[in-house]
Amino acid sequence: MRGHQWVGAALVGMGAGGADRAEHAARTGRHVVPAATRITVLEVYCEGCRVSYDAHLSMQSCDAALSRTA
Ligand SMILES: [Zn+2]
Repeated sequence: MRGHQWVGAALVGMGAGGADRAEHAARTGRHVVPAATRITVLEVYCEGCRVSYDAHLSMQSCDAALSRTA
């Protein structure tokens, strides 16, 4: 059985108004936060096959992982 690679889609505040953080994140697709920052996770899903964590019990193997090793 190949394992899913879980990732979390997260919500990170970008500040209000003309925030430099928002501009930088919009242009680069990146944003750095201090290590101890608590963030809100909207959804956990497999990076490879996109199955949600809640639904994965009915889909034990990861199709993406299987195709990577084929
Ligand atoms: Zn998967």
